[in-house]
Amino acid sequence: MPRPQKERKVLEPPKIQGMKPVGVPVRFLDRIYLSLDEYEAIRLADYDGLEHQQAAEAMGVSRPTFTRLIEKARKKVADSIVGVKELVIEGGNYSFTTQLIRCQDCGEFTRFDMPQNVVERCTDCGSENVVYLNKWFRGGRGSGYGKRGGFRGGRGNW
Ligand SMILES: [Zn+2]
Repeated sequence: MPRPQKERKVLEPPKIQGMKPVGVPVRFLDRIYLSLDEYEAIRLADYDGLEHQQAAEAMGVSRPTFTRLIEKARKKVADSIVGVKELVIEGGNYSFTTQLIRCQDCGEFTRFDMPQNVVERCTDCGSENVVYLNKWFRGGRGSGYGKRGGFRGGRGNW
């Protein structure tokens, strides 16, 4: 039996649920799944440019664990580009530390601290027409691309 893994800290949900290659019909595409913790590794080390040690601390994992995570993540991203695959961001053992909403009227993103379970407004235009991005990623693999779950404060992978 593998040891139960500790949840890895992910700052906030990605702003997209995946990416598709341009110019290839979806029926010809294989999918590759990038877990949320792998996404976070890429974001911290390659996008924000953190050292592996700092990135490991931010996610609450050891440095060797982080190194394995980022190597896996980079392989998947490379495979999606070179191997022409649809990249779906989904699953993994993680918990978000903040939540992110996108305003459907002006497109701005607003970040809120957890826990937060009331309907919020866009801080930019005041609209209540907002989407909670954390909901996209609840439930891990099989939860459905784009499907939305209920929203509750408290436990769960959100
Ligand atoms: Zn707005």
